[in-house]
Amino acid sequence: MLIGVPKEIKNHEYRIGLTPAAVKEFVAHGHEVIVENNGGLAIGFDNQQYIDAGASIIDSPEEIFARAEMIIKVKEPQPNECKMLREGQTLYTYLHLAPDPTQTELLVASGATCIAYETVTDARGALPLLAPMSEVAGRMSVQAGAHYLEKAQGGSGTLLGGVPGVAPGKVLVIGGGVVGTNAAKMALGLGADVTILDRSLTRLREIDDIFNGQVKTVFSTVDAIEHYSSKADLVVGAVLIPGAAAPKLLTREHIKNMKEGSVVVDVAIDQGGCFETSKATTHQDPVYVVDGVVHYCVANMPGGVARTSTMALNNATLPFGLALANKGPKQAMLDDAHLLNGLNVHKGKVTYKAVIDALGDSL
Ligand code: NAD
Repeated sequence: MLIGVPKEIKNHEYRIGLTPAAVKEFVAHGHEVIVENNGGLAIGFDNQQYIDAGASIIDSPEEIFARAEMIIKVKEPQPNECKMLREGQTLYTYLHLAPDPTQTELLVASGATCIAYETVTDARGALPLLAPMSEVAGRMSVQAGAHYLEKAQGGSGTLLGGVPGVAPGKVLVIGGGVVGTNAAKMALGLGADVTILDRSLTRLREIDDIFNGQVKTVFSTVDAIEHYSSKADLVVGAVLIPGAAAPKLLTREHIKNMKEGSVVVDVAIDQGGCFETSKATTHQDPVYVVDGVVHYCVANMPGGVARTSTMALNNATLPFGLALANKGPKQAMLDDAHLLNGLNVHKGKVTYKAVIDALGDSL
């Protein structure tokens, strides 16, 4: 199969659909890969690395879209990219169609077969192509929090790990899923005093096992949130209720009761945020202060560490991508119901129920 990897064109998007190592895998399986000129340069993957891996470098995105049988990207296609897609071509990337009628209409009009990373499932019902980005965001949340706790950044001047003779800072993680567990790992690694709240007792038991009791687990109630947030130096918001907006668990009142200069990182901001005072921010302007508490609410945290994120994403997308190329999209999806769950648009029709439910009237 001929696989095309265009450069990402969304503002400040530095990730790329395939790393040179992933290109090498496709080439080893007998496929041909064309990569846009300097497509990965911003994150240290130069043309020569792609050529060494067996790819050809192409100057124009138009040529890539015209020739490739499958396009592999990271972000949803922008309108001019959608218009270059055609029937018989496969698009494999993040799409997030439910809130995006314009993109959905353009993909329907293209006739292409569009597989969304975010709806591919695994045997446990989890979302394996979203998990790497949650791992990245969870780990970053503590790094960001530690940074903004510094005095010059508006924080209280607290070192999360403390030092011998001085107690460590307190980190509260609300939601103990992929983001929350990774946040806890980083906070524990820094030597902080870590508490995780979750509504799932099963999950709290798993966390207790993973961390061998080094992290405190507490059942998530209004009372627990009130108590632990008032003592915390850093609160990480990491809840998810699948398919729904995040519940506002940390209220304005809770924020008022927090210590001056403490930091809150709302990772769930991409689902509307789980703090009442959250509003989405960007990597260019990541924080603002409410009632003396520094708020970090960057909606696309993994974009800040685009090199690591690209490699983590490729680890997850590669096996499905290879199946699509080796067997052809139709057979690959017939053989794997989890990959079939990724199919969102095919030959001019929306094929994913949640997108139809969300956009029904506007389609
Ligand atoms: P997950 O499903 O693995 O974990 C969510 C956890 O929240 C679950 O353990 C669930 O039991 C828990 N939960 C639900 N309601 C709760 C409540 N009332 N109190 C406490 N816990 C509760 O999800 P995840 O992959 O960890 O993602 C968490 C959030 O981070 C999502 O909103 C996701 O979209 C977001 N995210 C944001 C970025 C970013 O760049 N900002 C990147 C990746 C993920």
